[in-house]
Amino acid sequence: KEERPATDHDLSPHSPDDFPKPKGSRPRQNATFVSLARNSDLWEIASAIRQVEDRFNRDYGYDWVFLNDKPFDETFKKVTTSLVSGKTSYGRIPPGQWSSPEWIDPDKAQKAREQMKENNVIYGDSVTYRHMCRYESGFFFRHQLMLDYEWYWRVEPGIRLHCDLHEDPFAFMVENRKKYGFVISLYEYIETIPTLWNTVKQFMREYPQHIAEDNSMEFLSDDQGETYNKCHFWSNFEIANLDWLRSQSYLDYFNFLDQAGGFYYERWGDAPVHSIAAGLLLKKEEIHFFNDISYYHNPFTHCPTGEKNRLRLKCDCNPKDNFDWKGYSCTSRFFEMQGMEKPEGYENQLD
Ligand code: GDP
Ligand code: MN
Repeated sequence: KEERPATDHDLSPHSPDDFPKPKGSRPRQNATFVSLARNSDLWEIASAIRQVEDRFNRDYGYDWVFLNDKPFDETFKKVTTSLVSGKTSYGRIPPGQWSSPEWIDPDKAQKAREQMKENNVIYGDSVTYRHMCRYESGFFFRHQLMLDYEWYWRVEPGIRLHCDLHEDPFAFMVENRKKYGFVISLYEYIETIPTLWNTVKQFMREYPQHIAEDNSMEFLSDDQGETYNKCHFWSNFEIANLDWLRSQSYLDYFNFLDQAGGFYYERWGDAPVHSIAAGLLLKKEEIHFFNDISYYHNPFTHCPTGEKNRLRLKCDCNPKDNFDWKGYSCTSRFFEMQGMEKPEGYENQLD
């Protein structure tokens, strides 16, 4: 294994014997949690970690990778390492991956930000938010600390888990040949991605070999690909395959989008970028909706449909808060595309 520069990351002082053995008979998968965070996110990420550990990871001891554009401070490392049952590591993002590429015209990008600020687009005037979206779209899976893993679960500061997990979701992904898992889907603000779909269409023309035959176009478009219906998986939660993101097809896709400049001239989010990739580059049966993983990220909740489920998993979410079947969710469309029956009890949750 190649030597890693000492300045780039730190490892926790645990020894391998400290980690819990996985519950049940299944082996631990080659997987890690990953969180992009600032030092100021400490207490929000601490609360998220505590819930992930209590609801699941304390029985498994999966690792946790933390990434930051600045060095993590000692308090951040000390507190998070104390909470995670697995090995923790702390990585610095290379500056070239947290900045606009040289082909971006700074004046044009600035004008776009000013215009979006005027139009009250959320994060419309933020440069760092754009760096973040580009980093999550194209780079986190290639960070040195991520290279040895095959699977990740993305966790953001402030999220909540409302139910126990009775199954290792990584093992589920492996055994069922899934590549991308989500819990919440919704419509994107069109002001942030006005030219994204045209760019995707150009990509499809240039790289037809990368488009999966049995893809999820039906989830993304209501007119066979002419226009985008803005449906996307909410990427602040993701359980997915890193080798897929590191594949030539995903990298060609990301580079094509990056060249087009929309991360800076508009405000393309990593959620529609990942979702469109999953929808077009993967087979539709490789995408999985985790009904059993209850999840909250401001302002939406996924609370499992079906009372039996919620009692079995000791859920503390209010089923009325479940976003899945509400008007602004795309999850019904996902079920229709997959030819799946909606879970028992969904009718009671329509608003
Ligand atoms: P939102 O969920 O779209 O409202 O955006 P967040 O503020 O939650 O940011 C998304 C993710 O990127 C979270 O994990 C943040 O901690 C992280 N993040 C956002 N901005 C920065 C930044 O400037 N530096 C670092 N290191 N992380 C950031
Ligand atoms: Mn967030």
